[in-house]
Amino acid sequence: MRSRWTTVIAAAAGAAGLAFIATAQQNASQQNAAQQNAGQQNAGQRNAEIQVLPVQGNIYLVTGAGGNIVVQAGEQGMVVVDTGLQQNSAKALAAIAKLSPKKIQYIINTHVHPDHTGGNDAFRQAGTTIAGANVTANLTDVKLGAQIWAQDNVLLRMSAPTGSQSPSPFGAWPTETYVSGRKQFSFNGEAIEIIHQPHAHTDGDSIVFFRRSDVIAAGDIFLTTTYPFIDLERGGGIQGEIDALNTIVEMAVPLRQEEDGTYILPGHGRICDRFDVVEYRDMVTIVRDRIQAWIKKGMTLDQIKAARPTLDYDARYGAKSGFGTADSFIEATYKSLTQKK
Ligand SMILES: [Zn+2]
Repeated sequence: MRSRWTTVIAAAAGAAGLAFIATAQQNASQQNAAQQNAGQQNAGQRNAEIQVLPVQGNIYLVTGAGGNIVVQAGEQGMVVVDTGLQQNSAKALAAIAKLSPKKIQYIINTHVHPDHTGGNDAFRQAGTTIAGANVTANLTDVKLGAQIWAQDNVLLRMSAPTGSQSPSPFGAWPTETYVSGRKQFSFNGEAIEIIHQPHAHTDGDSIVFFRRSDVIAAGDIFLTTTYPFIDLERGGGIQGEIDALNTIVEMAVPLRQEEDGTYILPGHGRICDRFDVVEYRDMVTIVRDRIQAWIKKGMTLDQIKAARPTLDYDARYGAKSGFGTADSFIEATYKSLTQKK
């Protein structure tokens, strides 16, 4: 993404409502720097201010609540992709409520991590299930709040947590799951596809494609802030990660010269187009190829870390600590490539 953007930044300003600041025709480097900073803040400041950014069509990006939240708003109500961290639910819901007088009817989780599912219970309770529309002849379902959809492994991991994963409250669990392939439905006059990406960031990843708005919510398969976090404990893998990035690249159609057209919303970071995903896919693939070649030479994990296969990308993608550091990416890639099938 280079010369795009007549940037429209919507700041959610408490009781004063949404203040829309339109900044037209900034030069490209300023834009990229500003968007980059916004992305890093989103990842780093867990209690950052909530921001609502129009993407295109019916789609809005909500940042600052943990992982990115994507909202489709229209006459029938709202679909929300991911729900941020639990402690930011109230602020996020207040910002989202300004996008439509109608309630949230569907919540879709891109994967199980708590910075994407933490608000599930609060969002579900704030939402509604319209009897007769998406529930047949069961008026009591109105009290259930919104429906929560996810790939089946998200429910399995929430309902039977292992290791360090904290148990999720029952009200946060997906109410409907799909096992493989894709789940499709139509809402606000738009076809929406939830497409499973096996063994990528986790084993329960979905990307969500809003077909008429031409926007893909990628979840944490795609980040603009750091290296990918391959969660091996929860079924992630480097090949699935690359496959998923390739799927997004294939789905996205640029308007001209690799820019605009389909917009892709990462799990953390700024609004992107196909070119951004191509760059990220290339980086992940190049690092994987280097590590693979060094494994074939007989190098150990420590030797590979010392040889710095990510060196030329560290300034751009290396997190200083936590998820997405160079070392954690190298280690996950190494383990993923050497684990017994
Ligand atoms: Zn995640």
